[in-house]
Amino acid sequence: MKRLLEAARRLHGQMIEWRRDFHRHPELGYEEHRTSAKVADHLRGLGLEVRTGVGRTGVVGLLRGERDGPTILLRADMDALPIPEADKGIDYMSEIEGKAHLCGHDAHTSMLMGAAQILRERGVKRGNVKFMFQPAEEGLAGARAMIEDGVLDNPRVDAAVALHVSPVHPTGRVAVIRGAGWAAADRVIIRIIGRGGHAAAPHQTVDAVAVAAQVITALQQIVSRQTDPLDAAIVTIGRIAGGHAFNAIAPEVLLEGTVRTLVPETQRRIRAAIEAVVQGVTASFGASYEYEYEEGYPVLVNSDEMNELVKQACDATLGPGRWEYGRTSMGGEDFAFVAQRVPSAMFRLGTRNGEKTAYPLHHPMFNLDEDALPIGAALLASMAVHYLENAGPQGENGIHRRP
Ligand SMILES: [Zn+2]
Ligand SMILES: [Zn+2]
Repeated sequence: MKRLLEAARRLHGQMIEWRRDFHRHPELGYEEHRTSAKVADHLRGLGLEVRTGVGRTGVVGLLRGERDGPTILLRADMDALPIPEADKGIDYMSEIEGKAHLCGHDAHTSMLMGAAQILRERGVKRGNVKFMFQPAEEGLAGARAMIEDGVLDNPRVDAAVALHVSPVHPTGRVAVIRGAGWAAADRVIIRIIGRGGHAAAPHQTVDAVAVAAQVITALQQIVSRQTDPLDAAIVTIGRIAGGHAFNAIAPEVLLEGTVRTLVPETQRRIRAAIEAVVQGVTASFGASYEYEYEEGYPVLVNSDEMNELVKQACDATLGPGRWEYGRTSMGGEDFAFVAQRVPSAMFRLGTRNGEKTAYPLHHPMFNLDEDALPIGAALLASMAVHYLENAGPQGENGIHRRP
């Protein structure tokens, strides 16, 4: 397996070139036309079966092995963020106003292109590798769009792996996350409806601002008093809007927020508890309400078997002692839609090497250590090889095909 790392190192310059090219030309969700064309050209050049326009701007490559066998999916995301890049002293700054790769998806795409090339050159004896280049990870559910367009079918996918760069971990360090890796991220919209009037005659009105203040305060007791303290959850009201003038009573206030949970049961409880609070508080002051709860990305649950695969591949490719258990993130991750359907693992790959690469994801100064590129490519390739050579009825590592 060390050979995979050597092969990836030979592609280092090429992967840097791809990554910087994507970095200069960032594209937002479902606008990844240039990026996906580059990806598709590369995959076609390798002789893979390629489908484009999957989930609008997604690309799928298929590498068939010599014999039939299971299919493993490797996934990268391609979209950038609508955030202007800060001048960080690099010569491959974003050339598009107001858009930048500040979540490392340029590196994810480059690493998966590298993994495809390594696997193509090495060859696969048994089973298939499917390469999923998805659009719109940042809030627009590109993975779900690709699933609806059949990315998990023909051939049917049995297991999946993805990685995310991590400015928290040093370059090349792997963090495996047990169980829930990323949270379910939902959106809440609450409208408090009162009766407006003159600020000097409050008794003739129902003050929506005063009621909203009570609602926000009461909502904070849901997590602190109604959920298991060992089961992480968040209720955040991030936006409040209402009123017209300082000397008038607001007829209506809009509250918008997010709920983050790791367990579906907690998600259901909080969803109901919010409505109970809003209903009770508004009723006690004579106001009424409207309540909408939009489910976003589901919780991303890593399978124990696939985590084992990540660890095995890591030991075999990088040597022992290169992985650790990582912390769950309360952020959302679109790969959760894949993990809901097939046994999956998403791990973090360290990309921090000094101060310049220590900024958090989505920060205008975010950057990553490009020495991680061949490591990520080799790890993804190695996971595919490990899975395909050991999975199935005669498998040795306990990962079985989906019934
Ligand atoms: Zn992001
Ligand atoms: Zn990301």
